[in-house]
Amino acid sequence: MPIRLLSSEVASQIAAGEVIERPASVVKELLENSLDAGARSVMIAVEEAGKKLIEVADDGAGIPSDELELAVSRHATSKLVRSTDLFSISTLGFRGEALASIGSVSRMTITSRVQNEQEGARLRVEGGTAGKLTRVGTTVGTTVRVEDLFYNVPARLKFLKSDTTERRATDSLVTRYALAYPGKRFKLSDGKNVVLQTSGDGDRRAILAALYGVDVARQLLEIQAQEEGFGISGFISPTSLTRSNRKEITFFINGRWVHDVSLNSALLQAYHTLLMVGRFPLTALFLEIPSEEVDVNVHPAKAEVRFRSPDKVFSFVQRSVRRALLAYSPVPNVAPSLWGSTRTLPMEQPRNAGLDWAIGHDEQLPGGSSQSSVDSRKSEIGNRESEVGDRQSSIENRKSEIASIPLLRLIGQIGATYLVAEGPDGLYLIDQHAAHERILFEKLMTQHEMKNIPSQALLTPAVVTIPPQSANLLITNLPILQHFGFDVEEFGPNTFQVRAMPALFMGSDPSAALRALVEDFEEDESPLQSEIEAKLAARVCKRMAVKAGQALSTEEQRAWLNDLEACDSPRTCPHGRPTMIHLSVDMLERQFGRRGAR
Ligand code: ADP
Ligand code: MG
Repeated sequence: MPIRLLSSEVASQIAAGEVIERPASVVKELLENSLDAGARSVMIAVEEAGKKLIEVADDGAGIPSDELELAVSRHATSKLVRSTDLFSISTLGFRGEALASIGSVSRMTITSRVQNEQEGARLRVEGGTAGKLTRVGTTVGTTVRVEDLFYNVPARLKFLKSDTTERRATDSLVTRYALAYPGKRFKLSDGKNVVLQTSGDGDRRAILAALYGVDVARQLLEIQAQEEGFGISGFISPTSLTRSNRKEITFFINGRWVHDVSLNSALLQAYHTLLMVGRFPLTALFLEIPSEEVDVNVHPAKAEVRFRSPDKVFSFVQRSVRRALLAYSPVPNVAPSLWGSTRTLPMEQPRNAGLDWAIGHDEQLPGGSSQSSVDSRKSEIGNRESEVGDRQSSIENRKSEIASIPLLRLIGQIGATYLVAEGPDGLYLIDQHAAHERILFEKLMTQHEMKNIPSQALLTPAVVTIPPQSANLLITNLPILQHFGFDVEEFGPNTFQVRAMPALFMGSDPSAALRALVEDFEEDESPLQSEIEAKLAARVCKRMAVKAGQALSTEEQRAWLNDLEACDSPRTCPHGRPTMIHLSVDMLERQFGRRGAR
């Protein structure tokens, strides 16, 4: 084929592909334009997850009617003149591509009016072709209406995920921008429902509550630090509040949401040794960095940036977060090793006693009795979240491999965290939390297999508010919850009522159970119902299991040993961590020099 210039239509569709990938990208570009225009209020309406309609209306400066046609052409911007300006950008947009891109892959209508004009103007662009400018009466500001996104690029449409996923991407985008701009009013509605509405009164915690629920919002720690022209503010989770993935780590740089691997790792380093392996913090951090220190022009959708001195940014973030964490919850330095080392608790720290035991356990106790197994076990734990499904489905095969445990004689509880028991072949140290998790899980799964999970009504139903993204997923998954003995129903927008829960969990907090169920709810993750169910069961059992640091009566301890002996896989918790450490008679004898060379 001879070389030809692409038609402008094809060229602009190719270019649009880089900027506009899914409905949420449209929302992002339009939102950013509204913010750049100095809007105080931004209203976003979405229908059919944005495939049918996305409308963003603002009360910003507006576009003069004689510039409207220019605004929708490629490389037309009011935000940049010289290429040197690229290194001191203070607006969110600067590429002059968004409106042109959106217009080339949808039917777009822009209506806008500026203060000093009597009337506004309207322009319609369909598949990249602009129609005639018309005059309309309208208020100051801009409304962009995007219909039938990708109607002329069917291949793109096919790449879109389910409506729930696309909707969630938009929800989480808007919520994050609302969080970054607490002084602006945002309203996101989806069909008839208002998904998010903020007051613009500057209160970030209220927005966090909308995003994560009141409980989580209350626990988040506020951080604020300043150093040599760099600033950081926002919220981080205490070490007791974690997620199984990095999705709730949010960074904004100079008002722009960015995804940056090095910022993530700076953050994780700040949490190093404070979180269990495979757990991640929730954060919403807002960095202010002198604009000449950041290059924002490295990514078509402006989601990535480059730093002039990456190390400086990295250590600033790492240091500020670490300092804040330690200030809020000084975690003592303990290095518990198996036996023989003394554990020192700082003097005035009884509150954290349970916590550091748990940390010590996860970070440092070897899985078996040999030190060399630590590393392999760590990497195993690292992968375990993704493997829970596999693990469950392979439980059957593994039953035969995993030796059951012998009858145990209870000796007692130590550190309100471990049970000590004697068996015919030595001493057993049992992690009460992991063991309880295993016991609950097997009971629940057995009842589930027999399709008979006894459910018990709550005297006072628990009312739980859940972030909008999770709420949608919860609604689609209500039938599964019913299988598991939960009676949950919608109670209001993003609010649910738990009316009954599995009898197995009676006495535990029903709202914690529901939150455990919806945390990390991922619809696209696993196609198999049975895997989803096993995963949910494992998660809720983990949350319901007794924590480290809780004293148990002798009867309870004994009952648990019996229950554990009855388990099919008593030696690991459903997430694959060991429930017990066995110190064999043989090993004890060797350690005490009773055996071998004397
Ligand atoms: P960019 O934001 O990179 O400049 P866009 O294609 O997103 O490019 O927008 C082109 C121009 O249209 C902007 O530079 C701005 O002047 C104008 N514009 C777009 N949206 C709005 C809005 N909501 N309010 C006021 N002006 C707008
Ligand atoms: Mg823009």
